[in-house]
Amino acid sequence: MAGGRLGVKAGPRFGAGRPPRYPALMTEEDLRREIIARCREMNRLGINQGTSGNISARVADAMLVTPTATDYDLLAPDMLARMPLDAPDGAYEGPRQPSSEWRFHRDIYRARPEVGAIVHTHATYATIFSMLRRPLVATHYMIAAFGGPDVRCTDYAPYGTPELSALAVEGLRDRTAVLLGSHGMIAVGADLAEAMWRAVELETLAKMTHLALAIGTPVVLPDDEIARTVERFKGYGLQKKS
Ligand SMILES: [Zn+2]
Repeated sequence: MAGGRLGVKAGPRFGAGRPPRYPALMTEEDLRREIIARCREMNRLGINQGTSGNISARVADAMLVTPTATDYDLLAPDMLARMPLDAPDGAYEGPRQPSSEWRFHRDIYRARPEVGAIVHTHATYATIFSMLRRPLVATHYMIAAFGGPDVRCTDYAPYGTPELSALAVEGLRDRTAVLLGSHGMIAVGADLAEAMWRAVELETLAKMTHLALAIGTPVVLPDDEIARTVERFKGYGLQKKS
């Protein structure tokens, strides 16, 4: 998958040392533009419904997150909300309110220092499994892209609540994606390209699993095979960007 434009520009630098894969010379303006491009990509790929999804990226000790209920085609870089990760609840900079789901974005960054970007969508097939409260299991080796032999599904909690945020962080333990009960999915990555790649792979895996279940009983791969594949993916991830 192609990464965003990563050109060298003058301007403030951020993220020394983390997130690990963002070049130190990528400016916040570059990052704002990439978030918007990823929002539009999410809809173009058919993994999001309208503006129900949201995307964020870590920038130094804050996060940039898409504003609430704003058409992605009308999004401009300065419309994104900037929220310090250690600020009092809900504090933000910007002309528009952040996504109503800002809380789990913030709490995931707080809990997971290696995470640099988060994609949340109500992608159809992933959400179907969340409605059934069924985890995705190792019926295909690509489950390893999410760090282990399953992608968990949380209980239900209303959107925007601390309860949902706690469930999301717990469901993501040792994983890079989670299904939110009767809601949708979250995929995380070191950067936006990786988080989006995982969101697409998760929806594809959910779709394949749904279709396999429709005509039979998929075989579940053993845990040790998935553990080996998780290790191989660590090398694969580094090759995605040249
Ligand atoms: Zn949602």
